Amino acid sequence: DITDSEPTPIKVREGALDPKAHYERERGGEKELLHMVVVGHVDAGKSTLMGHLLYALGQVNKRLMHKYEQEMLLDAPGHRDFIPNMICGASRADVALLVVDATRGEFETGFESGGQTREHALLVRSLGVSQLAVAVNKMDNVGWSQDRFSEVVSKLGTFLRQAGFRDGDITFVPCSGLAGQNLALPPTEEALLKWYSGPCLLDVIDNFKTPPRPVSKPFRMSVNDIFKGTGSGFCVSGRVETGILQAGEKVLVQPQGELALVKGITMDEMPTQVTFAGDHPCVTLSGIDMQNVLVGYILSDPANPLAVTSRITARIVVFNIKVPITRGYPVVFHHQSLLEPAVVTKLIAQLNKSTGEVVKNNPRCLVKNSNATVEIETAHPICVELYRDVKELGRFMLRSGGLTIAAGLVTKIH
Ligand code: GDP
Repeated sequence: DITDSEPTPIKVREGALDPKAHYERERGGEKELLHMVVVGHVDAGKSTLMGHLLYALGQVNKRLMHKYEQEMLLDAPGHRDFIPNMICGASRADVALLVVDATRGEFETGFESGGQTREHALLVRSLGVSQLAVAVNKMDNVGWSQDRFSEVVSKLGTFLRQAGFRDGDITFVPCSGLAGQNLALPPTEEALLKWYSGPCLLDVIDNFKTPPRPVSKPFRMSVNDIFKGTGSGFCVSGRVETGILQAGEKVLVQPQGELALVKGITMDEMPTQVTFAGDHPCVTLSGIDMQNVLVGYILSDPANPLAVTSRITARIVVFNIKVPITRGYPVVFHHQSLLEPAVVTKLIAQLNKSTGEVVKNNPRCLVKNSNATVEIETAHPICVELYRDVKELGRFMLRSGGLTIAAGLVTKIH
């Protein structure tokens, strides 16, 4: 399982501050951010449930809700055609909430072939999500039956374990999005209280482990936007994927390979001396032409630069595509903010979706919903990392004709 394999050891810069201690000193005690994707079969009740949960939390104004919807951060529509959109949220997700409909017949429809319950669960697992909350929803439709809950838990649990989720990382919660039962507060429904004394859904979400901020790894920041600032130099905004950056340091602009000086850093429009993995800062650069920095580029630690490559091997999950992927298939390689023309140059192996084992070497084509190992060549050099080293820079998507056709994890850089 490549999501569990050992990372490459990191070279530590001599004389550098201990990054973890630095982070603790600056940010210790702050709430960590967690990205959750909501998945499940169409009509399982995802929107109703999330609407209720967010409303109950009292933290949602309309604008924010809209923003979440657009980014697909919180909701992944269950309709087949929307799977490609869901991936944008899923590829950034740390944890997932799987919503299933407990109604007799409905759970079965979503779970059996053609339903999205399995597909979504496999997809989020393939993208490295290991913690999962399962909302066994619409319990009001089955009279809050414990037997029905156990039946769903047993059927789904077997499947999820096969898909690579660990028992201790899956929590099943009986609830009703419509009746607002067992979401943000413990249940009040007598029929449910009779047999259930576990956590409500929000408790489960609250107890998800936040991913560690990779502050000890070499500095990398993906560039999302470039604009003229007020003073000299220009500003670059993006996300610090790994490491630490301090004002006054130099960064390497990759893949182009030029050095730039960090004149200043701002976070939420406030100047700051330092920025850490997980932050979204604006960095003012000088000593480099603004034209030489492009969206999709990566700023990195000059002493520990990224590999620059045009050829990678990757494990991909193919979506519900109409035309199978064959050797020589042209795609757009979408990595962070980068869009780069590329070609699938080799179909190395087709893999079992649950176990990752090779089903067939050198397949002639990859059909919808399959998993595979492929080789990809990009038109220009790119900067990626192995997924096992830096998740954020080791994932990508493949697009074709305006649709996302596959999501992938980098397993080898040539
Ligand atoms: P989505 O497609 O997964 O986002 O599902 P929706 O939230 O749109 O819900 C689909 C349908 O199920 C709607 O008609 C809802 O009113 C209904 N529904 C959602 N949650 C519940 C529930 O807890 N109990 C019952 N009985 N119906 C529900």
